[in-house]
Amino acid sequence: MGWIWLLTIVGLFGTLAYNRARLNVWTLACVVFLILMTRLSDLSVWGIAIAWIFLLGIFIPLHVTSLRYKFFSKPVLNFYRKVMPTMSRTERDALAAGTVGWEGELFRGNPRWSHLLSLPKPELSEEEQAFIQGPVEELCGMIDDWDITHNRADLPPEMWAFLKEQGFFALIITKEYGGKEFSAYAHSQILTKVYSKSGSVASTIAVPNSLGPAELLMHYGTAEQKNYYLPRLARGEEIPCFALTGPEAGSDAGAMRDKGVVCWGEMDGKKTLGIRLNFNKRYITLAPIASVIGLAFKLYDPEHLLGDKKDLGITCALIPRMTPGVTAGRRHFPLNIVFQNGPVQGKDVFIPVDWIIGGAKMAGHGWRMLMECLAAGRAISLPASALGGAKQVTYTTGAYARIRRQFNVPIGRFEGIEEALARIAGYTYIMDAVRSFTAAIIDSGEKPAIASAITKYHVTEMGRMVGNDAMDIHGGKAICLGPKNYLGRACESAPIAITVEGANILTRCLIIFGQGAMRCHPYVFSEFEAAQNQNETESLIAFDDALIGHMSFTMSNLVRSLVLGLTSGRVVIVPQGKTKRYFQQATRFSAAFALVADISLLVLGGTLKRKEAISARLGDILSYLYLLSAILKHYHNQGKNGDDLPLVRWAGLTCLYEIQQRFDELLKNFPNRWVAVFLRILIFPLGRHFAKPSDKIGHKVAQLILNQTPSRYRLTEGAFVSAVPGNMPALLEDALLKTITAEPIEKRLRAAVNEGLLRNGTIEEQAKQAFIKQLISQDQLDIILQAEEARQKVIAVDDFATEDLMHGARQNKISYGSKNIEKNV
Ligand SMILES: Cc1cc2nc3c(=O)[nH]c(=O)nc-3n(C[C@H](O)[C@H](O)[C@H](O)COP(=O)(O)OP(=O)(O)OC[C@H]3O[C@@H](n4cnc5c(N)ncnc54)[C@H](O)[C@@H]3O)c2cc1C
Repeated sequence: MGWIWLLTIVGLFGTLAYNRARLNVWTLACVVFLILMTRLSDLSVWGIAIAWIFLLGIFIPLHVTSLRYKFFSKPVLNFYRKVMPTMSRTERDALAAGTVGWEGELFRGNPRWSHLLSLPKPELSEEEQAFIQGPVEELCGMIDDWDITHNRADLPPEMWAFLKEQGFFALIITKEYGGKEFSAYAHSQILTKVYSKSGSVASTIAVPNSLGPAELLMHYGTAEQKNYYLPRLARGEEIPCFALTGPEAGSDAGAMRDKGVVCWGEMDGKKTLGIRLNFNKRYITLAPIASVIGLAFKLYDPEHLLGDKKDLGITCALIPRMTPGVTAGRRHFPLNIVFQNGPVQGKDVFIPVDWIIGGAKMAGHGWRMLMECLAAGRAISLPASALGGAKQVTYTTGAYARIRRQFNVPIGRFEGIEEALARIAGYTYIMDAVRSFTAAIIDSGEKPAIASAITKYHVTEMGRMVGNDAMDIHGGKAICLGPKNYLGRACESAPIAITVEGANILTRCLIIFGQGAMRCHPYVFSEFEAAQNQNETESLIAFDDALIGHMSFTMSNLVRSLVLGLTSGRVVIVPQGKTKRYFQQATRFSAAFALVADISLLVLGGTLKRKEAISARLGDILSYLYLLSAILKHYHNQGKNGDDLPLVRWAGLTCLYEIQQRFDELLKNFPNRWVAVFLRILIFPLGRHFAKPSDKIGHKVAQLILNQTPSRYRLTEGAFVSAVPGNMPALLEDALLKTITAEPIEKRLRAAVNEGLLRNGTIEEQAKQAFIKQLISQDQLDIILQAEEARQKVIAVDDFATEDLMHGARQNKISYGSKNIEKNV
């Protein structure tokens, strides 16, 4: 009988925890339980008394705040302060920047899927569509990427003029100042299309529209600065760059040695309060041709000319290129992508304090300004660069694998190639889903710092994987550079997107979970802030409040992890349909993630910051949950097309498998072994049973891009594939269509060869013989010949005279062999 009551209380507590009941509900349920047990059970008086003392001993102190503060919250607060990680000012600013979106739901362990599906879809206005179909198409049609990257090392002058005239540098500037004021999604779509044609041109457009003078001015500029610069930037009369990175300050931008000292000086013959600057920056995009330089530097005010503080901190200012002391013009050469990028230096440059973005009052606020802008911007330019490449790769590689034959078989039929094709299509689907999802969130008014970091990291990493697979599938065709090579340059330059706007290893190890835990967790930031409060009473009250909520949250996640692990999430109510199980599994892993995140914070405390491998894996789990959410949302947004289900399954299973593997790696490496064993039982009570997508699913996915299916075109929508002269994707599509049409005739020809009716030979020879022997018609012969012609165009590669490849030699007129090479034309 005693066992029944024990099981009842365990069940009762489990149900309350699972449903995240409030303390009052717990107490009421407990009292009702005790009364029922006293009246109905045949336990001894002692047994009943112990139960009353035990349960009330827990609940009464929880209700009596003075007792709770003294014996519980205060000691925990003291302990917390000891283990609390220290935080630099730059870290604080980064944490304060931006808002929390869907990733917050995932941290809570119980995502509201109906809320996800009700979030706005990404949409383009008529004006945005017209811009993409008009100037963007026209621009892509003008681009000869080989000429740009190989011959000119720059965009042609008419393209620069076109970009300025059409407002390509004003995508984010508001209409009030002559800009386009496009949405984040439109911005992303524009860059995706241009990147699918040329990284050099797209990067040139991306920079003035991303973190830089225009964005900083719009958010923080004084009216005077806005009125002067924004219309000029919108018209392309000013070319901006933004200089943060230096030789000693890359990922750790706060370590910059660039220094400004507030002092009196002379400007236009007048005594002026200003800043004397010395700086040395590198890797700065557009710096070689910029007319105005956005500069981040550390500002000092030793003579207190601006106020009390001596060390004001990172500050951003706008400096015209021609200011005395500024040197720019030389170029770096980033992986054969020739957008303008180079160093910029300044020696004893004097600028008025009015040139600080936002004026003197914004001195020292530079890091916060940059972090706030990056909170949204990270999700746009670099994800668009990777996605543009991936869409083009999917379009061309799917076709190429059908067109290219080896061993008399289209290479796309080999299982090894199918596996790589499935990865290309599957990752492209995920990339498209996640950047659309995040862009739509930004357009709804959020600045989701963690979601942007997740989007930037995963979309660029997947872009690199897609590129590698495409290179392998194309073999030598992608290796030999030249106008006919549509992959080499893009794949070569993949590390650029990995490195800029937060290098990926750092983003994974420090930002996604490290900042995510602080920003998105429902209680951690409140506890942190409470512990920092100097007023002891206020600190204790706030800390206690967060702590009680946190305890109930952890208990709930503990129970939910076990229950959802045992039931494989089947008890969760989610949107019905073909994707139902993915929603359920995502909820299961979200609960497990919330639990492990809490336990990791508890066990590792401040050391979690140094335990990067643990933090990185927690970040991966959060990321894959976010990606899975984006995939489900994307599928719903696109009208739940049944054709796309193999893609959704491939993508969904990949995310679930990755989540499982990261949990496993995390638990294997968790510093406290007992805790790791306990967590493993809760998370995987029935073991690990997620596998990578099966070969069968992979085959279905590969077929979607090897054929002219609606999914192939949905997946690659937004890439530049128009049939303009020299556009290789269009030639591939033409060859694909002709190859598919010719295939049944080729099958008949092969059968005729096997039956001895035709001699073996090339497909053209067989077709000509077959026509003569009246085995096929004139139309059928034409189909074969046209397909062959189209195929040959596509598989051809370029070759060059040595002199054509000797750029350095041509520029410097040095001699090669017996020839004197003349200056480049
Ligand atoms: C083509 C190009 C264009 C650029 N454009 C601009 C621009 O316009 N303006 C501008 O200001 N900057 C620009 N940058 C600079 C860019 O933002 C930096 O390259 C980037 O911040 C990384 O700095 P770094 O290259 O010095 O690498 P490092 O900081 O030296 O990093 C090297 C490696 O160490 C890793 N790492 C560093 N710290 C940690 C850590 N704590 N934990 C784990 N891993 C870590 C990084 O992830 C990276 O993998 C550009 C760079 C390039 C290459």
